[in-house]
Amino acid sequence: MVKDFIFCSKILSLDKLSNIESNSLVFLFQNNKILALNNESEQKIPSFFFETKSSKWKFKILPILQKIDQSNWNGIEFGKYKSKPTYLLYFTNNSINSLQNEKNLQNELSFLQEYPLRSLIRLDPGYNLLIAGIAYHVYTWISNHIYCGRCGKRFIYSLAEFALKCPSCNNTEYPHISPAVIIAIIKDNKILLAHNKQFPTNLYSLIAGFVDPGENLEEAISREVKEEIGISICNISYFASQPWPFPNSLMLAFTADWAEGEISVDKKEIMDAQWFGLDNLPKLPSSISVARNLIDHFVQQFSS
Ligand SMILES: [Zn+2]
Repeated sequence: MVKDFIFCSKILSLDKLSNIESNSLVFLFQNNKILALNNESEQKIPSFFFETKSSKWKFKILPILQKIDQSNWNGIEFGKYKSKPTYLLYFTNNSINSLQNEKNLQNELSFLQEYPLRSLIRLDPGYNLLIAGIAYHVYTWISNHIYCGRCGKRFIYSLAEFALKCPSCNNTEYPHISPAVIIAIIKDNKILLAHNKQFPTNLYSLIAGFVDPGENLEEAISREVKEEIGISICNISYFASQPWPFPNSLMLAFTADWAEGEISVDKKEIMDAQWFGLDNLPKLPSSISVARNLIDHFVQQFSS
């Protein structure tokens, strides 16, 4: 969990924007994206959390959000950061864009823009992005579970735990967390790095994949490695874990040694994979990721 952050023990609904406590953090979402301040003209990174003690929140953002009909937004208190509440607000029916299209508000709202949360990773590896990740995880889960999947009635918030409850059939829905494994494979002081077709150009990272039903973590690792690059591994050992909210993974990182086989990429997910030494490392993932921590760990080991 993020330092100084505590997750709520149940979903706390926010009925009115004026109930938001001062000195809290607020994250805004719409259309599966986070709303951030566009500060490009000032050559700053977009700011995607709103401190309610700031005058910008009090005098600019809150009065505008209060124009949005109650049926077009939802608010939840999902945790506490340094003892202050953290909220997420999400807007439906493009209500932020609708306001932005109103003539007299165009200038007022031009600073607020939608960003894919993932696009902000490289900009801010700090705590606020990690809390934004938790907010995004909760937002995607809750906005994808309006109705009970069993009987179709509208879910309500459970009064007992952080869950959704069906008032008709009693079905309970908890936040989804999908375990995924990520693996650093070593051979002759070189590390195996691969280029996935979804990565930015020339970026290489570790082999990773989701755990299938019925698999333990070691089996998932061996299967993914075999499927994606055709080699066998041994000496699998645990390294660290990290929540990865795109949208709901828990990354479990391991190390292993090459055992046998030549690299043969599947060309479906993995387009290229190579053994990289310290002197020819390619473009690597962001330092916020456990993948990068694991790669850096080996760089340190090789260089000592
Ligand atoms: Zn139901």
